[in-house]
Amino acid sequence: MKSMAKKQPMKEEKIACPKCDWEPDGGEYWGCSTCGHTWDTFQTAARCPSCGTQYRHTQCIPHAGGCSQSSPHIDWYRHLDEWLREEIESIVIVAEPAKV
Ligand SMILES: [Zn+2]
Ligand SMILES: [Zn+2]
Repeated sequence: MKSMAKKQPMKEEKIACPKCDWEPDGGEYWGCSTCGHTWDTFQTAARCPSCGTQYRHTQCIPHAGGCSQSSPHIDWYRHLDEWLREEIESIVIVAEPAKV
């Protein structure tokens, strides 16, 4: 029996709410309080693609099945590779919301 080993071993980073385990489904649930843009915050590591505001916390989305609690963005990433975690943390630390 041939097994096509095309798939990587399950090591993908999972994204889920640290409080209730809700997993974002790719919807644009997050609204920027600075410019009003809505987007999928996990596409951009919690940075508004419209005005560049960096968010440290990400709220869970109750109307999509979540719990409405807010957690540090970094805590949403599970099984994060060490380098990737450092990468994201450095982004989050450097990119304070900046009023230019
Ligand atoms: Zn914005
Ligand atoms: Zn939640």
